[in-house]
This record gives sequence, structure tokens and C-alpha cells, in this order.
Amino acid sequence: MEIIHVSAECFPVAKAGGLGDVVGALPKYQTQLGQLTKVVMPMYRTKFLLENEWDLVHEGGQYLGGNFFHYSIIKEKTNKLGFDLYLVDINGLLDREKIYGYDDDTERFVGFQIAVCDWMSSWQHKPDIIHCHDYHSGLIPFMVKNCFPFSSLADVPTVFTIHNAEYQGWIGWDKYYLIPPYDTFKWGLLDWNKTINPLASAVRCAWKVTTVSPSYMEELRYSANGLESLLSSEYGKSAGILNGIDAEVWNPATDAMLIKNYDEHTVKEGKKKNKKELCNRFNLDIDKPLIVFIGRLVGEKAADVLPDAIRSSIYQHHGVANFLILGSGEPDIQSRLEDLTQQFAGYFSVYIGYSESLSHIMYAGADFLLMPSRVEPCGLNQLYALRYGTVPMVRSTGGLKDTVKDFGDWQGYGIRFNHANVEDIAYSIGRAIDLYTNKRDLFNWMRSYMMQIDHSWDTSAAEYIKLYESLK
Ligand code: ADP
Repeated sequence: MEIIHVSAECFPVAKAGGLGDVVGALPKYQTQLGQLTKVVMPMYRTKFLLENEWDLVHEGGQYLGGNFFHYSIIKEKTNKLGFDLYLVDINGLLDREKIYGYDDDTERFVGFQIAVCDWMSSWQHKPDIIHCHDYHSGLIPFMVKNCFPFSSLADVPTVFTIHNAEYQGWIGWDKYYLIPPYDTFKWGLLDWNKTINPLASAVRCAWKVTTVSPSYMEELRYSANGLESLLSSEYGKSAGILNGIDAEVWNPATDAMLIKNYDEHTVKEGKKKNKKELCNRFNLDIDKPLIVFIGRLVGEKAADVLPDAIRSSIYQHHGVANFLILGSGEPDIQSRLEDLTQQFAGYFSVYIGYSESLSHIMYAGADFLLMPSRVEPCGLNQLYALRYGTVPMVRSTGGLKDTVKDFGDWQGYGIRFNHANVEDIAYSIGRAIDLYTNKRDLFNWMRSYMMQIDHSWDTSAAEYIKLYESLK
């Protein structure tokens, strides 16, 4: 089968979060299962672009509103990622340093999608599946079915995966002219609440919709940032498929970013060496349990609760745990966390920014990983934590619920709580401290047990293929 993944992110080319991890891994595993798998994404000005060699495979042109634009498609020469990687270059529009955050993001991503459809329409053959990820490629299911320039693709099955329904890519109808020509009576397929809504349009027009965990699929029917009724009515064509992790990239036995590699037999010593590095670097005490948070500092991740929860825990538990945070996001949360560093030097530290290498050392060196998320479609951090023998402390929601079992339950290996508030977090930190200090045998058993759980993409990649086959 020829599968085309269309996405704004793909690790290691460009990643802002979990979307990048998934699109960097799922296609690789699908290729290993014998499929011809291709990823198409925008050509940003990244290190990966500059450090690799590319073939020019296509040049074309299309209209974005009244403006004609030229685009080119380049392909990475060696297939080093384990799948065919194509980048779309539209001069001036996509070749920027950041992935998101520009005033013309609407034009950038609509232009990208038009170029992808135009390129595929120029082929002699048709792909078997177009698999779109999140709203940045959410207009494609509509475009291939309805836009006149791409009519040759009208019967190609499309699959749309919701990695995060909070972001829907809303476009005011004043920009209606950006969408290539279609029968205007079909405008309703683009509209949700008097706005062009790429995520809603994809849910309507894709042949199948998937979410990145079964629990998130259920939750979206009741909480989907305004799309609850749509997701309920399209439930019949939807499926929740749990994300996996790239077990080659995320392997503590071979991870080149770690200070010391380890496996389930050497977890104790291995983690200690990585913890020592973190404690030296951030002025923390190696003898205390180290609790970390890695992620976007936004309300969705309940990062706004962290400063009070950490302050309260340090007082309540007499400073017997240390905390380290890696992330960036809302300026208010960032500065409240930085203030804490002054107040609790030696107990708490924060790194504001994005650092892939520090995140790996933190997964390895921490004793506990805290994820109080209000919304968590799947969550990859807890899966990385499990793989690195770090006990996840998670709120019972979405994918966290599907992947973490509380240690109070039979063969449990994590800590779960119900509310993203100071009380629940501080209480869970108390349980973590007790586990670390007084239940050492159980703690050590949990570490090696969780490292052996298979969360690789093997099973889920095959599930996606089964889903594609059902559309033939
Ligand atoms: P999101 O909702 O942000 O996509 P996920 O749990 O699905 O959340 O994925 C988050 C991914 O982003 C993980 O690989 C995590 O390690 C990484 N990540 C998030 N913030 C940072 C950061 N500041 N530095 C390094 N990696 C980060």
C-alpha cells in the first residue's frame, strides 16, 4: 500500500510536541511492515534541512486566493529516517525558522495543503491512503473530494488523526478566497459556528477519524472545545488507536544523549549517574527523590497549578523532595516558576526553553515524572518515563488513563490522581516520597517492571494498516 502522511511536524526534522514524535515514528514502523510510506511536510529552515542532501522531485504552481505561487518538492536522498521524506518549499511562506507562531500561519498552512494536493494530482497513479494529522492538514480531506483542481484524487480514501482537538485552525470567512474553487453549496462542509474550521471539516470529510487513545475518543464526545456534537455524530467512523513510542530513539540502553546507558538489570546504577548530572547542574540533592515535569507550560498541561503545588509540597513534606521543570509557554507561568527558584534554591530548579538532550537526561535521571494534565489526548512523556524506569504521576485522563496503573492496584507501576489541583498533587507527592523512602523493594520492582512493558509502535502501526485496508 502507498500511504501518504501529511503533517506540520516530523521528528527529527521539526518537532514542537507529540505530533512530531508520532509522525517521525509511525511511518517508520509501517515501512517495516512492508508498506510504501511517505511523509510530506513543509520545508522549514531547520538544521535537518541544512545537514542533509536532497533531490528535487517536482516543481509546480497553484493559486492561493488571487496569488499564483510556485512550489517545489524535495526528497531526502538516503531514506535515513526509515521512510520517504518529502518537503514542500514555497518561497517566503514556509522556509522560516519556527514551525508556528507567524501572523500569516493561515496562508502558510493553506498554501502547504494546496501544494500537496496539486503535487499528488500530477501523479500518473493515485496513492492508496492520504493520512492527515491535526488541523494543519485538516482541509485536505475536503479539498481532494470537492476542489475542482484536485478532482483526480476524489476517490482516494482519507484518514484524519486528531492529536489535539483544542487547536482547530479557525479561519474567518473573510478569507474564503484562500480555498481553491469548489461547488459553493458545499460550504457547510468547511463551516463550524460561522468560521472555517479545518479540524471540524476533516472530521466531516475524512473517510475515517482516529484519536491517539481510546479514552480520548470517548472524552471528545463530552469535551472537544466546541466540537462535542460533531464528534458524537461522527462517532461511527471513528476509532481510538493508542500512540506508541519509537523504541529505537527512546532506548536507555543505547540513547547517546544519556550520561550513562542502562537496561532493566542495571537501572539502579544507570539512573543514579544521570541523576547526579542533573543534581550537580541544577543544585539539587541526589539523596532526595527527584520529581520532574517536562512539557509546554500551558493550562492544558495544568502547568499553572505547578508553582503553588510545588510550594505547598515543599512546606507540607518538609523539603524532602526535589523538583526540576523543563518547558516553555505562557509568560506568566514561566515567571512564577522562575520566582520559585529564588525562594527554594536547593529544592527546586527550572529550565525555560526547549532542549531535546536535557529532556532525555531528565527521563533517565528522575525518580518521578509529574503530569497533572487537564487534557491529554495520549501523552508520550509518561511512555518515555516508563521506558526509562521513571515512575509516572498522572491525572486520570485521556491516554494517561489508558497507559498508567496506580501502584495501589494489582501490578500497578505508577501514581494516579483525579484533579489538577494543589491538594491532589501534594497528596500524590506524599505517596511518591513514601514509596521512595519506605517501600524501596516495591519501588525497585516497579522500575524494572515498567521498563519491560512494550509500548513500541509494533501493535498500533498494524492497527492503522488494518483500518486503511477496511477502506479499500
Ligand atoms: P504535546 O501535547 O505537547 O504534544 P506530548 O506528551 O504528546 O505532548 O509530547 C510531548 C513531547 O514533546 C515529548 O517528546 C516531550 O519530551 C517533548 N517536549 C515538550 N516540551 C519540551 C521541552 N521544553 N524540551 C524538550 N522536549 C520537550
